[in-house]
Amino acid sequence: MADGVQRLAALQDIDVMIRERRKEEELGFQLGGLEDLEKARAKLTSEIDGRALRLYERLSKRYDRAVVPVIDHRCLGCSMAVPTSQRKSGDDRRTRDVVTCESCGRILFFI
Ligand SMILES: [Zn+2]
Repeated sequence: MADGVQRLAALQDIDVMIRERRKEEELGFQLGGLEDLEKARAKLTSEIDGRALRLYERLSKRYDRAVVPVIDHRCLGCSMAVPTSQRKSGDDRRTRDVVTCESCGRILFFI
């Protein structure tokens, strides 16, 4: 997995954990640890390319999961086939090492 996408996937994991933790605290559970998660998030975002980060933030408003894997040449977010051209470098939708799905726009990672 490309470095940039790996960081975005890690960021997504942290965001999911933060959301879960907030929900638990709303229900009255005092689990703590939210501060540590926020700190980890801040550290991670400082290491992510600005354009990729803005793209992620925009997508995560629209989707629960902004970063999805490609399995059997299909985007797992929308199940559409990912064209061969997108699996290679040199595509104009490619910003550094971030590739997005042509159908739903989610950030793709190839496993
Ligand atoms: Zn898609």
